[in-house]
Amino acid sequence: MILRHCLLALMASASLLVPAADKLPVVASFSLLGDLVTQVGGDKVSVHTLVGPDGDAHVYQPSPRDGKTLSKARLLVVNGLGFEGWIDRLVKASAYRGARVVSSQGIKPIAIHHDHEADAHDHHHDSVDPHAWQNPAHVRQYVRNITAGLVAADPANAGYYQQRAKIYENRLTELERWADAEMARIPAAKRRVITSHDAFAYLGQRFGIVFLAPQGMNTDAEATAKGVGKLIQQARREKIRALFVENVSNPKLLEQISRETGAQVGPRLYSDALSGSKGPAPDYLTMMRYNIGVLVAGMRQN
Ligand SMILES: [Zn+2]
Repeated sequence: MILRHCLLALMASASLLVPAADKLPVVASFSLLGDLVTQVGGDKVSVHTLVGPDGDAHVYQPSPRDGKTLSKARLLVVNGLGFEGWIDRLVKASAYRGARVVSSQGIKPIAIHHDHEADAHDHHHDSVDPHAWQNPAHVRQYVRNITAGLVAADPANAGYYQQRAKIYENRLTELERWADAEMARIPAAKRRVITSHDAFAYLGQRFGIVFLAPQGMNTDAEATAKGVGKLIQQARREKIRALFVENVSNPKLLEQISRETGAQVGPRLYSDALSGSKGPAPDYLTMMRYNIGVLVAGMRQN
């Protein structure tokens, strides 16, 4: 009887644990989250990223292969805030039954202002800005949510995940300290930037930068000629020289603004996706340092 009890207890605990040789299979919706899961999960996880480097998660079309990969995963990590409009369809099609981590859970989202016409076509967003990762303080919350998800899916390695999360949070603190010092070089009145796609409101909120964009929050929203014309006037009036295009959006509008204002379009910013491993933004921390460096150099010309 005692033997039977022990055997049952052993079987019950074994079914809850991930076998030691196997890594926890995790699917992340886009490249930034793939990086964060890797930072916390280390060699205990195998991470598959759906929308890879330089990919645009706003307009992503999942493939049947994505469904297959997801069906074998134990954890799904998404941004939330309406960023991945396609994720529910994919989950349904794949019959995935595992847990889902909404990384942005607990942050205070920025509401989208429907004051320019571009947003009239903005169907698949909630009424909040999804690009919360552009504020490193929010990423601290992302890391906590991801860590809680990993611990729940793989409690045997809880200590490992928590320790790595703590190390990463310290690196986020260092990033913020460095960024504050860099931004201090730019007077408040000169903290104005034009980007092609409106993806930097959280960065702007954190560092007191006003970002202006001809295209809305969503890369599939159309910019109107009137909106672009107004932006050109504003750039001339306020002498904004800091113009940037992101790795996920079309440079045409910014080239037009550049022609009409005489300001040069600066190096590309990484907004919604990392670069490849050889690019300037292969992981979140490097991406932020790169973007902030480029923005500060641009704003100094204002
Ligand atoms: Zn975006």
